[in-house]
Amino acid sequence: MQLSALVHSSRIPFAYPVDEHHLRLVLKAAVGDLAAATCVHGDRYAWPHDTDDAKAMERLGDDGVHEYWGVTIPSVTRRIRYTIYVEGIDGTYAWLTEQGPVSRRPKNFTFQYAYIHRADMFKQPEWLRTAVFYQIFPDRFFNGDPKNDPRRNKLKWGEKPNRESQAGGDLAGIREKLDYVKDLGIEGIYLTPIFKAPTNHKYDTTDYYKIDPAFGTNEEFKALVADVHAKGMRFLLDAVFNHSGKEWFAFKDVIKKGPASKYADWFYNLYAFPVSPEECNYETFANRVVSMPKLNTANPGLQKYLLDVATYWIREADIDGWRLDVANEVNHGFWRAFRDAVKGAKQDAWILGEIWHDATDWLQGDQYDAVMNYPWRDATLMWMKGEIDVVEYDRLLTRIRFTHMHEIMKGQLSLLGSHDTTRILTELGGRQKAAQAAVLCLTNHGVPLVYYGDEIAMPGENDPDCRRCYPWHDEAQQDKEMLSLYKRLIALRKVFPWLNDGAWETFIADPVTNVLGFRRLPTPVVAPERPMDEEGVYVVINNSGRNVTVDVPADTDLVDLLAGEMQTGTVTGTVLELPARGIAVLAPKALASLVEG
Ligand code: CA
Repeated sequence: MQLSALVHSSRIPFAYPVDEHHLRLVLKAAVGDLAAATCVHGDRYAWPHDTDDAKAMERLGDDGVHEYWGVTIPSVTRRIRYTIYVEGIDGTYAWLTEQGPVSRRPKNFTFQYAYIHRADMFKQPEWLRTAVFYQIFPDRFFNGDPKNDPRRNKLKWGEKPNRESQAGGDLAGIREKLDYVKDLGIEGIYLTPIFKAPTNHKYDTTDYYKIDPAFGTNEEFKALVADVHAKGMRFLLDAVFNHSGKEWFAFKDVIKKGPASKYADWFYNLYAFPVSPEECNYETFANRVVSMPKLNTANPGLQKYLLDVATYWIREADIDGWRLDVANEVNHGFWRAFRDAVKGAKQDAWILGEIWHDATDWLQGDQYDAVMNYPWRDATLMWMKGEIDVVEYDRLLTRIRFTHMHEIMKGQLSLLGSHDTTRILTELGGRQKAAQAAVLCLTNHGVPLVYYGDEIAMPGENDPDCRRCYPWHDEAQQDKEMLSLYKRLIALRKVFPWLNDGAWETFIADPVTNVLGFRRLPTPVVAPERPMDEEGVYVVINNSGRNVTVDVPADTDLVDLLAGEMQTGTVTGTVLELPARGIAVLAPKALASLVEG
């Protein structure tokens, strides 16, 4: 047994409470190394140790390097000590302790989870469980009010945008199309920024308290959120707090008064006075983006100002949370205060960070609820594009599932694209693959995101081309088969809310046929006890140019939940025939009967 490959600590994501009386433990070991792992646990104050309980750990999958073992142990008193007894397939054994592996059962350096404190419990909002989010770039969704259209850089609806284009889309337009969004099955809408700003994307805020006149008025915004709520949906706004725009009052004051400005310390680094956009003598977002001076979010005055902004829009317009722009370039202390302020204003508000890479430091439960799951997107695109085989894809999915504590994974936002990426149709070079990606996204754990227009297979290279106008005017540009598939898949999230957090088991990852098959089960992997014979949903993706036959390991006959949609195959009993690039979502009759139509 490779002792050096054993990884465990009494910290997130290896140890964390799932409720007040259960602690989740995860152990990593070298692939193929362990015959068994057993957790021996008891109350920290109970003596002697001989009375401690033992519970076997379960092998849950591997990522090609490590295999993952997990167990959820009970604790009446909430005060826990434990060790993990590991047995290698080579007959060796060890006791894993907080001082590393030892050869004898330890008395003094057991792992300690000192207390499962109620105040430390991290929970996603309840409403998130069935939610599918829809991201809208307001200037390009629908123009509901031509009177407020911007005059400069006018883009004719339907023409290709450039970086400066302004198409005239607005809040009135979104309001007018809410039935369309609702009909799609969406339960959460997320808008890129809408506060007053010079650009079409509005990531360069001029006034955090005013809706941009090209989008509408503050009153129209409140009415929009009220309409969203009336239709049973939630609403997120984009918080751009890493930087402001250069037209923001505080930055203008600094330009005017120099070091004498009381806002001088609100900006991260001012290298020389007078501060000047022409000179770019101040810290900015990215590389010398002079229109976006970087904010010093550690300054108490600025912090108060921005937290007031965050809670103002919750109080005033009743929004349901924030998506945080450039979230990993803002200091942690600011986000902790932000969390307290936002959750204080609305207990079930949701906080979603924009982080494209390892977000562990922000996902300990004290800052964000989740981030946009770009690592999942990257892995999915790599497999769909043939850059990695299905075995490696499955291993990446396993690693991603174990990156964070389970409650965080319930919020991780599965996205195929956004306003910052090439659209999925263009990225994958065709609608069949785009449909496969939609199935992977909408059957994934966490919360799926649909970027406006992907549901009708809109094309688009990266920014600005991924921000085209929604082609309401042209039915020929709306892929109705793709739309039907999206609706069908989104509807499944309501019937099977456990797609959000239920267990995942891969049953086929065949490098010869390039077929992935996995089963989603109702009971979460962190449940203290899991039923033996649980019925679930089977998802199969044929990422090859050939027809395949797959024996699905189900005990009863299966029904095709996507029957009649594009690229589906036929299932007979438990044998699935799939065409090239085919998709299948199957369920036993008892579960399938819950799905209408
Ligand atoms: Ca307009």
